[in-house]
Amino acid sequence: MKKYATVDPTNGDVVREFDSMTAEEVAESLTRSVAAYRTWSATDIVARCALLQRVADLYREHSTELAALMTLEMGKPIAQARGEVELSASIYAYYATAGEKLLADENLDIAGAGEALVRTAPIGPLLGVMPWNFPYYQVARFAAPNLLLGNTILLKHASNCPQQALRIGEIFAEAGVPGDVYQNVFATSDQVADIIASPHLQGVSLTGSERAGSAIGALAGRYLKKCVLELGGSDPFIVLSAADTDKAARAAAIGRFGNAGQACTSSKRFIVDASQWDAFLPAFLAKSAEWQTGDPMKEETRLGPMSSVQARADLAEQVDDAVLKGATVHLGAVIPVGRGAYYPATVLSGVTPDMRAYQEELFGPVAVLHRVDSVDEAIDLANDSPYGLASAVFTEDEEQASYVADRLEVGMVGINTTIKSAPDLPFGGVKRSGFGRELGKFGLTEFANKKLVRSI
Ligand code: NAP
Repeated sequence: MKKYATVDPTNGDVVREFDSMTAEEVAESLTRSVAAYRTWSATDIVARCALLQRVADLYREHSTELAALMTLEMGKPIAQARGEVELSASIYAYYATAGEKLLADENLDIAGAGEALVRTAPIGPLLGVMPWNFPYYQVARFAAPNLLLGNTILLKHASNCPQQALRIGEIFAEAGVPGDVYQNVFATSDQVADIIASPHLQGVSLTGSERAGSAIGALAGRYLKKCVLELGGSDPFIVLSAADTDKAARAAAIGRFGNAGQACTSSKRFIVDASQWDAFLPAFLAKSAEWQTGDPMKEETRLGPMSSVQARADLAEQVDDAVLKGATVHLGAVIPVGRGAYYPATVLSGVTPDMRAYQEELFGPVAVLHRVDSVDEAIDLANDSPYGLASAVFTEDEEQASYVADRLEVGMVGINTTIKSAPDLPFGGVKRSGFGRELGKFGLTEFANKKLVRSI
């Protein structure tokens, strides 16, 4: 099989394959990106905003078809896929609407004579390396602010969603974004390294695994390129004594099983106060049991297949390791008979530090429940992770919520909610979850030149 291929995760059939680019084609793409940058960065901001709005409109117009392609390539249930298309549209629309204000000059209050301001300017061609789990949204998060800014983009998408990668490029073209401003590249890892090494490239953003983050981060360091890394997570979901148990259980099941658990910000570790345990466990199990696997093309399906049989095998290994070492299975944990990368909604407890499931990211529909005796124990356990992406704290006690929120080593905290991405909310993590922020005004400055203009 070629590197770039659509493989239907419901049955493993290879649907379509694509050739990777040659070294010459990759080099030409970069040359064209450099040329496009000269005109795009000089294009009036109002025109760039209008094009982004057109992109948003096209996502909405083509929503049905775009969602179906996502379901085909990575198995997301169709209703959730449409939700992602809408979220992606809202990101383009947000930057289209807020663009002028976000890019306005900032006057500085200075001690010396004359005036000083900071102008937010583009820096040049960028490379985005994106994952398959939110194929349109991840690209939108990177592309929308940077196109608004005036940067140009080479986009290397995940090798298992090539048709979506091409459709994203087509939508930019249909909207009227000049040809080489956004280019899809079916590049190999070696070619990605060549692009980063080129003196013409000014920055790279990767969303993906720690392994890929480490590789891209090392290259960015070696060649002194600005770099944003959005990596994995093992998000804690804390249920305290003053929580509304039903509200927490409902949010927990959605937070864990949406997108078949394949989100960086899926709730993964459920840390439950002992006073809540006897009520929360059955409530959560009841909600979890509602997530039955099914054909992702069907409107009513909530839990589709995982992205590939290999991804499922990796997850099953982590679960089996825990079970072998004594974890309790409350639900699931058995691979269903038949074709496709299906894995059932699974709930474990009794997971201890000697088990892989304690520290590793579980990138699939597997929840791990821990029982704790105090708020501070909950905080310590939540922070006992190499990751620091998002988190959720459920309690009706505002003071308690604020106490916990201040102490969690994460980039995002939800109080009585899980973190749901929105165009105007900053997104990103700390520790091994990466560095940098996307979305809102923060996503606009990662690859910007904050240029001082001083006049006397
Ligand atoms: P992945 O294997 O790291 O792949 C992500 C992208 O990186 C793909 O385009 C992949 O290309 C590319 N890639 C991998 N190794 C590379 C290398 N050495 N050089 C150049 N490119 C390389 O991750 P994934 O399995 O698709 O995604 C799941 C991971 O992403 C999870 O850990 C998840 O938590 C994380 N994630 C984080 C966020 C966030 O915002 N923090 C959001 C979503 C997902 P190929 O497909 O061609 O290998």
